[in-house]
Amino acid sequence: MLMPLLSDNELRETRCLIDGQWIETEATYEVRNPATGELLARVPCLGAEHAREAIAAAERARPQWSAQPAHERSRILKRWHALILAHLEPLAQLLTREMGKPIGEARAEILYGASYVEWFAEEARRAYGQVIPSHDLSKQLSTVREPVGVVAAITPWNFPNAMLARKLAPALAAGCTVVAKPAEQTPLSALALSKLATLAGVPHGVLNVVLGDAVAIGAQLTANPAVRKLTFTGSTAVGRLLLRQCADTVKRVSMELGGNAPFIVFDDADLDAAVEGAMASKFRNAGQTCVCANRFLVHEAIYDEFAERLVRAVRDLRVGEGSQAGVTIGPLIDQRAKAKVAALVMDALEQGAVLLEGDAQMPGNFFAPTVLGQVNAQMRVAREEIFGPVAPLIRFVDEADALAQANASDAGLAAYFFTRDIARAHRVAAALKVGMVGINTGAISTETAPFGGVKQSGFGREGGPQGLEDYQDVKYLCLGNLR
Ligand code: ADP
Repeated sequence: MLMPLLSDNELRETRCLIDGQWIETEATYEVRNPATGELLARVPCLGAEHAREAIAAAERARPQWSAQPAHERSRILKRWHALILAHLEPLAQLLTREMGKPIGEARAEILYGASYVEWFAEEARRAYGQVIPSHDLSKQLSTVREPVGVVAAITPWNFPNAMLARKLAPALAAGCTVVAKPAEQTPLSALALSKLATLAGVPHGVLNVVLGDAVAIGAQLTANPAVRKLTFTGSTAVGRLLLRQCADTVKRVSMELGGNAPFIVFDDADLDAAVEGAMASKFRNAGQTCVCANRFLVHEAIYDEFAERLVRAVRDLRVGEGSQAGVTIGPLIDQRAKAKVAALVMDALEQGAVLLEGDAQMPGNFFAPTVLGQVNAQMRVAREEIFGPVAPLIRFVDEADALAQANASDAGLAAYFFTRDIARAHRVAAALKVGMVGINTGAISTETAPFGGVKQSGFGREGGPQGLEDYQDVKYLCLGNLR
């Protein structure tokens, strides 16, 4: 393994990256630690003009980068992967400070992000085309896969490292150049990751990072004809807007939007495993993940038992600053997020839900892990993406009821269920209208499998072989007059 090459200070980059130059501007905005309110940095507040420059740089760099043999790009990505691992600890600490998650989860995120870099370094070399059985012996038919061109990547704050790595790695591996716009709340992890990319040998202009006015930058990234693909992870509302904005230039688009994952516990489930899966799925990142269990559908015969066990496990969680040992739940990202989660809990309680565990009196951005009993499908907490450490429990009577409730959502990202019946496992997995299913597990994400949704959770896949294809166009060649 490589030794760290950058000091903590060098890794803590606060400038934007355009055409290989780290740039500062007079206009800046503040980045604060959501646990303490501490000022961490001031970073540039860029607008449409800088976004245009970044796109132009990416367009200039594109021909040479895309023409490199895949193993050259692969080599740079492998070096980037090694550099990320060599800086694991300072990257994790930076992540915890700007985003709030417990340091153990931050380390896991850096490793998870790095796993995509390694995976796509490998996949770059396997971008096979096809020879197609011909309809006419005088013609040979084949396909090749080509990079789509300049890619715009807009990412959220909940996984500031991994959500970006998951887009940059396949884009760069495919031979695309990129303009990235990370979330305003968590720019430091994105800048540090990008700095390591430049250190690994990603050439000038191949990767550009802009921060600032999301609306103005987003408008430029979507309207500019040089950008051939937009990849977005974030809220469904912003995703819809960006989709509309991409229509005029007919861009390729990948959307990883909100979820409303059902977590079904059948009466034949292994309850210990179900509770363990529930804790992993619901409370990781304080419930701020798009694949989080959002609704617990529990068979009426085991409802009381499951509720009791879940509450016991939730009481063992420890809320606090992510950097402190033993803390398992960090703060929510900001006051707006906290107010939204509190409003969902309040709405449920007013409509007859029961507070099985929780504490309304947490300071700052902290929110106590909460379990709500007697929830029904009409309550906001069951219909909206919670994005907080709140577990609503809903009863069901049989498999058909569970499936009807599970699928009664516009979202279709992830679903989880627990059963020991193998026939039921097949039936239910087939019937769930989602992009990803966890069967007897609450943890499904890995770089080797395609991550993505259906319905209003979006389209496109990140990870797996499909993750590379998302950044490639298929070109069909018809070679004629062969005889
Ligand atoms: P959240 O509500 O979780 O912050 P958002 O969808 O608002 O999710 O944010 C995800 C990403 O989208 C962030 O990088 C944010 O800056 C960006 N974003 C928000 N609004 C726009 C917009 N109008 N155009 C382009 N990007 C946007």
